[in-house]
Amino acid sequence: MHEFSCAQYLIKVIHQVCEKYEIKKIYKISIKIGTLTLINKEQFLFWLKEGLKDSLMENSEIEAIEEKPEIECKDCGYYGEIKEEFSYICPKCNSFKILFKKGDNYYLESIEGE
Ligand SMILES: [Zn+2]
Repeated sequence: MHEFSCAQYLIKVIHQVCEKYEIKKIYKISIKIGTLTLINKEQFLFWLKEGLKDSLMENSEIEAIEEKPEIECKDCGYYGEIKEEFSYICPKCNSFKILFKKGDNYYLESIEGE
């Protein structure tokens, strides 16, 4: 049920954004899903659509973009992609002291509506 709770969270964010910008009808939502989150895209989209279908979202489109991981190395300062998806080391100096800057989260990229 990972996807379900992630979708619930994002629905809350979408409602907050719509309230803030007084959006009554959504045409398109773009979300980014980091590949490290292990979120199943299809399931995630399913729960998103389920959660939004009664309000705001009739006939609108949801686009899910996968985001590749990027890291910052605490030892050598390298910033960028890692060699393999699940190798948690710096590709330059092999340090384990890395911080994920991208790819380990999911978030709302944009909402188009009025
Ligand atoms: Zn490094």
